Amino acid sequence: MTLPFLEKLLQVLAQGGFSSTYKYSVLLGLIDLCVEAGHPPTSVTTRQLARRVVELYWPQVRPYPALQAVLRQNSGGQARIAWRVGQFRQTHPDLISPPRFGPRAPVGFDALLSEVEWELVRQPLPLLQRVGGGEERFLYTIGWDQHVRKSTFNVYKQGGGGSFDNRILLQPEAAQSLVALASVIRPLVQQHWIVRVQKINRLAEAELDSFLFGTERIALRALQAPLRALQDGRCFYCNNSLSNAASEVDHFLPWSRYPDDGLDNLVLAHDRCNREKLHFLADLDFGHRWEARSREQSERLDELAATAAWSRDRARTFGVVASVYQGLPEGVRLWAGRAGLRRLESGDLSGVHGFGRGLLVA
Ligand SMILES: [Zn+2]
Repeated sequence: MTLPFLEKLLQVLAQGGFSSTYKYSVLLGLIDLCVEAGHPPTSVTTRQLARRVVELYWPQVRPYPALQAVLRQNSGGQARIAWRVGQFRQTHPDLISPPRFGPRAPVGFDALLSEVEWELVRQPLPLLQRVGGGEERFLYTIGWDQHVRKSTFNVYKQGGGGSFDNRILLQPEAAQSLVALASVIRPLVQQHWIVRVQKINRLAEAELDSFLFGTERIALRALQAPLRALQDGRCFYCNNSLSNAASEVDHFLPWSRYPDDGLDNLVLAHDRCNREKLHFLADLDFGHRWEARSREQSERLDELAATAAWSRDRARTFGVVASVYQGLPEGVRLWAGRAGLRRLESGDLSGVHGFGRGLLVA
C-alpha cells in the first residue's frame, strides 16, 4: 500500500525544521540508489549515499550566472556539503562531471567523500524522519542517532571496525515504493529543492513560481478586516485576541494541497499560528470548528462574499476538504496548534469519515 507512504513523505517535505537542502539530497539519493539496484535493496551504505549526494550537488555549485556566485544551500552560511563540493570542483577545473571513485580517482576525492559521508551521518540521516515531536522510521532505520561521535565514525573510516554500522536499512515497503513511484517523487522533491534555493537566495524566479501557481496575497489582504469582524477579533486557531498582533489570512486546507481561495477555506490567524501550521493539515478539532463556522455563519459569509466580491463555493470547498481528510491514513500527523503535531489514531478515523459530510447535504 503506497498511499500512507506518500502521505508520510509529503510530511517530511512539509516540515520546515531543516535550514539546508540536505534532506532533499538524501531523499533523491535514496531514490537513485534504490532504482539503480535493479530490484528494491534491503540496505544501502552511508558511503554509497555520500557518493550520490556529491553527484547531486556537483552541478549546483557552479557559479549561478545571474548572481555570478555559488547559490547558497542553507539559510545561514553556506551548507558544509555544498561548500566542500564547490571547493573540490574549484581545485579540479578540468572535471566537468563528478569523478568515479576508484584507483584513478583524483587526489582528495576520497577525503571529500568521507567528509560528506560524515555530514550525512551526523545531521540529516538521524533527523530526516522526525516530524513535529515524533519520529516515524517509515523510510529506514539506522544504528546511530544525532549524538554519534566523530571518533566512532573515524574508527570505521580507518577500517578499524568498531561499533559504527554504515548501513541504512530500508523498510521493505519504502524501497519498493521509492522504485515504483520514482517518476512521481523525484520531480516532487526536486521542486521543493528548487523553491527552497530560490527562497534562500532571494531569487526573482521564486516570484514566477508564485505568480504562475501561487495565491494572490495582496488580494487576500483585503479580507483581513471582514474576517477579523467575523471571528470577533480572535485568531481562528488559538482563539486569542488578534489585536496588536500581525495576522495573516490562512488557507484552512493548505494551498499546496489544493489551490482553493474560496471564502470558506479562508480563516484569519496570527502570523505566528499561520507560520507554525505551514503546509500541515489542521487537526480534527479545528476541522469541526471550521465546519461549524461555515454552517453557523453562512449568511454572514454570503454577505462578505458579496461585499468583497469574493468567490464562495461551499460545496466545492467542502468536497475537497472531505476527500483530503477522508483519505488520511492512520498515523499521519496533524497540526494541533500550540501542542504541535498529533498522530491520527485509528479511533479518530470514524470522525474523519464524517468530516465535511454535514455541510455537503445541508
Ligand atoms: Zn493564534
